[in-house]
Amino acid sequence: MGTVEKLVDRNRTFAATRFNDRLRMRPDLATIVIGCLDSRVDPAVVLGAEHGEIQVIRNVGGRVTPHILEELVTLREVARAATSDIGAGWEVIVLHHTQCGITLIKDRPDLLGPYFQLDGKDLPGLSVGDPWAAVAHDVGALRSETRLPGIRVSGLVYDVTTGLVETVVQP
Ligand SMILES: [Zn+2]
Repeated sequence: MGTVEKLVDRNRTFAATRFNDRLRMRPDLATIVIGCLDSRVDPAVVLGAEHGEIQVIRNVGGRVTPHILEELVTLREVARAATSDIGAGWEVIVLHHTQCGITLIKDRPDLLGPYFQLDGKDLPGLSVGDPWAAVAHDVGALRSETRLPGIRVSGLVYDVTTGLVETVVQP
C-alpha cells in the first residue's frame, strides 16, 4: 500500500471513531500557534491540544516572516467575516525548537533574505542560529504589529531531546 492509500485508510478510521461534527471555525482555546513544520514538533501533539482547540501556522523555523504577518491579518478578517474576531482574549504562541533545520542555513543570505524579505545586513538581528533569541525576536515582531491589536503573545522553545517546552517570553 502506498503512503497516500495508507493515509486515506487511516482517515476512514478517524471518521468512524474520532470525528466530531460539532467543532467550530473559532478554535476552542482562542489560540494560534506559529511553529516549525519539522515533523517532530507538531504543536497540537507536543502541547497536547485536542482537535478544534488551536489554530496552527507552520513554516520553516516557525518564524514570523512578513508572509506570516499577512497570514494573521487575513485570518483576522476571516474571523470577522464569521462574526468573530482575533483580538482581546486571544493568545498567539511562537513555538521554536532545538535542533531546528533552519539553523543549518543561518549563513545563507541568498536564502534567508528572500524568506524574510530583508537585506543581508539586517539578517543577523533575526538570530537564525539561536532558537531562544529568535523566539524573543519574533514575539517582538508580533507585539509591534498594529494590525493585530489586543492579542497576547508568548514565546516557547521545545527541546526535541526531552519533549519539554520552556517559556522564553511570558504572555
Ligand atoms: Zn524546525
